Amino acid sequence: MYNEIALFAENLGAEVILNAPMKKYTSFKCGGNARVLVIPQSVDSLQKILGFCYSKNICPLVIGNGSNLLVADNGIENVVIKIGSKISNIYLVDDETICCEAGASLKSLCMFALENSLSGLEFAYGIPGTLGGAVYMNAGAYGGEMKDVLYSCKHINENGNLNELPQSELNLRYRGSAYTDNGYTIVSALMKLKKAPKTEIKAAMDDKLQRRKDKQPLEYPSAGSTFKRPEGYFAGALIEDCGLKGYTVGGAQVSEKHAGFVINKDNATSTDVLNLIKDVQKIVYEKHGVKLETEVKIIGE
Ligand SMILES: Cc1cc2nc3c(=O)[nH]c(=O)nc-3n(C[C@H](O)[C@H](O)[C@H](O)COP(=O)(O)OP(=O)(O)OC[C@H]3O[C@@H](n4cnc5c(N)ncnc54)[C@H](O)[C@@H]3O)c2cc1C
Repeated sequence: MYNEIALFAENLGAEVILNAPMKKYTSFKCGGNARVLVIPQSVDSLQKILGFCYSKNICPLVIGNGSNLLVADNGIENVVIKIGSKISNIYLVDDETICCEAGASLKSLCMFALENSLSGLEFAYGIPGTLGGAVYMNAGAYGGEMKDVLYSCKHINENGNLNELPQSELNLRYRGSAYTDNGYTIVSALMKLKKAPKTEIKAAMDDKLQRRKDKQPLEYPSAGSTFKRPEGYFAGALIEDCGLKGYTVGGAQVSEKHAGFVINKDNATSTDVLNLIKDVQKIVYEKHGVKLETEVKIIGE
């Protein structure tokens, strides 16, 4: 079955990697292999590959830049489809509307908005994901979120058909969207922005990036904030208050710079990261009675 899918994808011109090391495709840089990793060359081939998988009752895991994923050490017994630079066109639809394909990085999207004097995406500058991952997660930072700019989104549904959802049906909420619920594959999105002077946009982008460099442990692999913000609290502050900054399990550590980040300090395994996460959840619950939920998507066991 997996070989059939690999062959089908290869014949369509997709890049196919068998037993793909997921540490190469995730920002945490740990975890096992995926049985088959497919990188489609176009939306058309993506649609055909998804359709073929669905016809075989296989529901692949679709990923973008892997910057919010932790793959278990025993890997993924499934087809993984990575949507990357081959599906990353960005263009203007009208003066204030950008269309962006799912595999484009948020960095290129923000740069495109800047070049066209369009404001609204500055918050996303420095988030190391793709547009697809950002819509799925309703990525946000510094008071902004994808919800503020999204107008509509195109996807491939469970029957392999291309379709579209307007903003009112995207169900965008804190780190979630309609796609978190329906599992469809995001193909592209329209975003409505506002004209503003380039100098102002650039200053706001530089400011956000500098704040990240100052506060976040960007020198180590991670998946960003490990935990969601619990209502009424900040995960990092709760963790710090429990004296857990620098807490280490194997090669994984609660960052000394920002307690909300679990980092891969020294060749951590995913088991190290998972055990550390469980310890942090237990200790924070015992001290504060707050249940920390992971923002990072854990794949496999
Ligand atoms: C240093 C660092 C800083 C970060 N800062 C922030 C931040 O400020 N704010 C924030 O919100 N996040 C932040 N993140 C987390 C992460 O970058 C975001 O969640 C980002 O939106 C994930 O995009 P991705 O392409 O890497 O998605 P992935 O990690 O590849 O996937 C994330 C989820 O989206 C799904 N998905 C991805 N692409 C598609 C698609 N095309 N169709 C359907 N489903 C899809 C995947 O199945 C998975 O469930 C940070 C991460 C790091 C490493």
